Order: sequence, then C-alpha cells, then structure tokens
Amino acid sequence: MGGLRYFPISYDVGDRLVVIVGGGDEAFAKLRLLGRSQARLRLVAPALEQALAAFVETNGIDHRARTLAADDLAEAALVFIGTGDEGEDARLAARARAAGVPVNVVDRPHLSDFAVPAIVDRAPVAVAISTDGLAPVLAQRIRAAVEAMLAPEFGRLGELARALRAAVTAAIPTNSARLRFWNRLFDGPAGRLALAGDLGAARRAALSALSAGAAEDGVVWLIGAGPGSSDLLTLRAQRLLLEADVIVHDGLVPQEVVDMGRRDAERIAVGKAKGRHSVSQSDIDALMVRLARQGKRVARLKAGDPLVFGRAGEELAALRAAGIRAEVVPGVTAALAAAADAQVSLTLRGVASSLTFATGHGAEGGEPAGWPAIAAAGGTVAVYMGRTVAEETQARFIAAGVAPDTPVVAVENAGRMTRRLFAGTLADLPALSARADVDGPVLILVGPTLAHGELKGAEPIAEPIPRRQPALAGAA
Ligand code: SAH
Repeated sequence: MGGLRYFPISYDVGDRLVVIVGGGDEAFAKLRLLGRSQARLRLVAPALEQALAAFVETNGIDHRARTLAADDLAEAALVFIGTGDEGEDARLAARARAAGVPVNVVDRPHLSDFAVPAIVDRAPVAVAISTDGLAPVLAQRIRAAVEAMLAPEFGRLGELARALRAAVTAAIPTNSARLRFWNRLFDGPAGRLALAGDLGAARRAALSALSAGAAEDGVVWLIGAGPGSSDLLTLRAQRLLLEADVIVHDGLVPQEVVDMGRRDAERIAVGKAKGRHSVSQSDIDALMVRLARQGKRVARLKAGDPLVFGRAGEELAALRAAGIRAEVVPGVTAALAAAADAQVSLTLRGVASSLTFATGHGAEGGEPAGWPAIAAAGGTVAVYMGRTVAEETQARFIAAGVAPDTPVVAVENAGRMTRRLFAGTLADLPALSARADVDGPVLILVGPTLAHGELKGAEPIAEPIPRRQPALAGAA
C-alpha cells in the first residue's frame, strides 16, 4: 500500500509535562533525548539503575519512586514507557492510553501510538527522519548526511528568525516577498553575523535591511546542471535551485534535476525536447528580463556548463542591457563527463598538451569557424553537437591531415546511468550518424590520448553488420 503509515508532525512540548516510565537503559535513553526539549520531565519507576539515579540527582529531575499510577499522568502531553519487560510495558501502555495520553513504548512499535524519528538537532531548528520503522539504518544514514550538511551553528539562523518574525510579518505583506527577504537575509551579512554567534549585530543588520525597504530586485542565475545526474550538480546549484521562484530549463536537462528545485517554484520549459516546439532565443531572453523585473529570482538551468555552447553570451548580454543582476554557476560540461565515463585523461604528458571544445554545427547550419586549426593542434578535441554531422566532422579532421586511425570515443548520455560508450577510429566516425539505436546527446572525443582509456564495456562505433543467413539450396 502506498503512502506514509507514520506521518511526521512536530509536537509542542514547551513547558508541558512529559512522563517517562522505567528505571533502566531504555528509560535513560529517552530521558536524555527529551532533556534537549523544553518539556517538564517526570520519571516514574520503583527503582533506578545507578547511572540513571545519578543523572536524575544531578539534573534535579522529578522522580516518583513507584509503579505508574493514573495521577502521575494527569495533564501529561506524552508518555514514554521502557521497563525492559514486555508484559509490564503492555500493561502500563494500556493504563496510559486509558488516561488519554499518547504512548510510545521504547522499541515496541506494536504497543505504541507514535514513533520517535531520528533527529538532527539544531535548536530551534530540527530535522526529523522517519522510515515508517522499516529500515532504521536508512534513517541513520540520512541523519549522518544531514548532520554533515548543516553546520553546528545552523540553529542560530533560527534564533535570528525568531527574533525578527513579528517585525518582518508587519513590514512585508505577501508570503512570497517575505520568503525572498529571508533568503536574502540568510545569504547576506545578517546571516553571516548570526552564524558567527553575534546575534545582536545580526539583528541590527537585519532590521536596517528591513527598514531600507525590501527592495524587490530580481536576479537571474545561469546555472550549470551538469550532464544530467542529480549528484553531478554543484552544491551551489542545488542551493540556488531551492531558492529560485522560477526555474527556466532546457530540454536537455532531465526531469530528475528539474525536480530538485523548490517544490512550489514555477517551472518553464524552453528549448528543444521531443514533441515540443523550441522557444526562440530572443523569446527566452525577453522572458528572463520580464521575470526578473517582477522581482523574481530566476534559475536559468542549462545542461552541462552554461558557458560552453549554452547561448549564455546572448542571455548575459540581454540581462546586462536590461540592467538585471546575473550570476553564473559553473557545471560539469559534457566533455568532462564523457572522459570520466571512459576513464581517459584528456591531456597526457608527451601525448596531448591541449584540449579543445569544438562544435560540429556552425551558426545557422554554416561551417563552424576555426576548423583546420582545431584539428591540426594535435591535442584532444571534444566535439559537441557532432552526432548527426559525424561525416562532416570526420572530413574536417582528415582535411587537416589527421590520420584516419586516430582513436575516437563517443559517449551517449555521458554522466548518466544510461550512458553508452563507443570506441573506434576516425575512419569509423561517419557510422555514428547512421545508427538508429543512438538518439540521446552524444559527445565525441578525438585524439591520441583516447588510446589510453579504460573504455570498459565500449561498443564499436560502427553497428555490427547482421550476418546474413546463407541461402539454403533447394529451400521452398
Ligand atoms: N552546455 C552544454 C552543451 C550544450 S550543447 C555542456 O556544457 O555540456 C548540446 C550538446 O552537448 C549535445 O549535442 C551533446 O553533444 C552535448 N551533451 C550535452 N549533454 C550531454 C550528455 N549528457 N552526454 C553526451 N553529450 C552531451
């Protein structure tokens, strides 16, 4: 059955009574965990193990030395039971439930009304991880990852938010404008001061930003999405995708990467993709200018690196002309992802001392500029947009005097799970455009270093010719 059985919520225990039942390790663990909350704690157990008794003593915890009775639970918000004995746990749980208090029995989900998630504590901020009790080890792994992601000081941003909340709500009327204000605040000097521990100065900086008027200037981030796997994005790209109000993306950027943006961000697909008309470059430029003028934070998400065959030159010029702030976030360009897949070094001492990013297509279908020199340089050439013009590309190399037996590697869907490697020589290259089984983006690498690659699982560039069945003599 789909859907969550355990639905995570955050429960207000501020200054409320939470009762913990048991005198051993189970109760001790819960007592320590709840000691990080603002709840009033009460421990109920006829006898306590030594370490627990010492903890109770040192921390002045209210201890009732008896078996749980109804009046221990009066006004309790929650109760945690962990006596170590299943029968006793079950009896006490029934008693608590009869008193109308939600019950958690330590390590016995079948006796519990609620579960306690794995917690990353950056008070007042907390991240709770729940796996429907199915795989606690998953929760532990996620917790370790989140712990590493959030600096120990992260909670200070929460303190800053708490201190300013009322003022910000009063000053900025709409939700989306407030969201932008907070984002800018946390990224700016106030955020830095708070993280450094100077909450007073952070608050002053924030208030002056607030009274300076939450000037609504939009921004466009040209973000490199990398070759198409979500884990080949930079951390900065990921962060900005979560801040953007609008995500304008190309057809080459896979859905899994577009999905990494803020859930409620508007998404606009431009550029070529199957079954969709591409939007002209000038329309894209105008769209970004319009969105930014509305005060929006626009993520312009492009495959690979935005500055490599990404039309970023036109887009940056249009934004500059309109006076709109722009930033560029680099990404892993297809040539680098392809080389990684082939495990081949693009430069090699004594073999190749240069790397050229070249295009197979010229502007408006014309001859691309710079060619005989590109091929003649003798280093490694990465050819973008070369699959359908593989034959013309081969001809350009041959015309420049490059030997037909020069190694070539082509990678379809580089950097993705679906990648395919093709290896051969310049002589084989034209066969690439003839293949009907290759329709993803392809990056072609040409040069002597390719002979030194790992190329595990590579197929020949030329599709194997199916063997003809010899005609059977006398067959009807
Ligand atoms: N800015 C992009 C390139 C865009 S041009 C970058 O830096 O990678 C489009 C061409 O890039 C495609 O025709 C193909 O040659 C190449 N390309 C983009 N993504 C690719 C991928 N995942 N695998 C192979 N080639 C890719």
